[in-house]
Amino acid sequence: MSEQPVKGRFAPSPTGRMHAGNVFAALVAWLVAKAQGGRIVLRIEDLDAQRSKPTYADAVQRDFERLGLTWDEGPFFQHGREEAYRAAFDALSAQGLVYPCFCTRADLHAASAPHRGEKPVYPGTCRRLSDEERAQRAAAGRVPAQRLRVPDCDVFLRDLVQGDYRQNLARECGDFLVRRSDGTFAYQLAVVVDDAAQGVNLVVRGVDLLCSTPQQMHLQDLLGLPHPVYAHVPLVVAERDRRLSKRDHDAALDALLARFKTPEGVIGHIAGITGLAPTCDPATPEELLQGFDPAALPTLFEDPVQIRWK
Ligand code: GLU
Repeated sequence: MSEQPVKGRFAPSPTGRMHAGNVFAALVAWLVAKAQGGRIVLRIEDLDAQRSKPTYADAVQRDFERLGLTWDEGPFFQHGREEAYRAAFDALSAQGLVYPCFCTRADLHAASAPHRGEKPVYPGTCRRLSDEERAQRAAAGRVPAQRLRVPDCDVFLRDLVQGDYRQNLARECGDFLVRRSDGTFAYQLAVVVDDAAQGVNLVVRGVDLLCSTPQQMHLQDLLGLPHPVYAHVPLVVAERDRRLSKRDHDAALDALLARFKTPEGVIGHIAGITGLAPTCDPATPEELLQGFDPAALPTLFEDPVQIRWK
């Protein structure tokens, strides 16, 4: 663990109401930080202006409050942070690592086969364009996205839940987006800039983001930022290999409150079925904290990848 005071975070995207999976990830983030006397930052990840809704940003805060998932700093938002993201983007450009990518979604789909079921690897189509070809494409009215050129090297991560994880950036990730063609800075860049600016040194989130972490660590290296400690928790799944989503109405917070009657009932049930607590008895996060030991994280979850919702 880091020697500085621990600072974890909740980083919800305000694109819908919370469900059991979001509550579980936030509960673990809270427990791991609080068990070490740490703090929690709330960051509303509203980078995607089209999908983010202020009503959800409000609702998610009320939901955390109701559940006893308190935060110590924030809420911070991503809107209005363009200047900070631009500074990071400019620093990468100044290192000669950014190039314009004119590929359309269809091009990308046609060119890249998903690798290991994780994510498509960009084949590098626009990396090799000459200045002339770039000028031609720009003149044809295509607005490019911007990609980061990655080296052929392995990034190694010691995850508190998943154990050792290694990813070769060139082969398993490829040059990745740092800015989209609509001008929005990419999630990977924003999250790295925000975690550093907000002093976050503990990132607890779903294992679906494990394969993004090497990209984020690589950006931290290039920008001279520290690496947080990472803990990627299992996803709560409706059935094998299908994570909970909005269509699983029984896992939505309002349905959970109706089923378990109280916020303590909801927290206790989620803690019990995931292995955070020995029973499903109603409990507050504070009460769960008494029996929680972050050192047990590597063996706490029977399956580190998925937990069946019930
Ligand atoms: N905002 C993302 C989500 O709600 C989480 C991103 C992160 O934890 O880095 O899925």
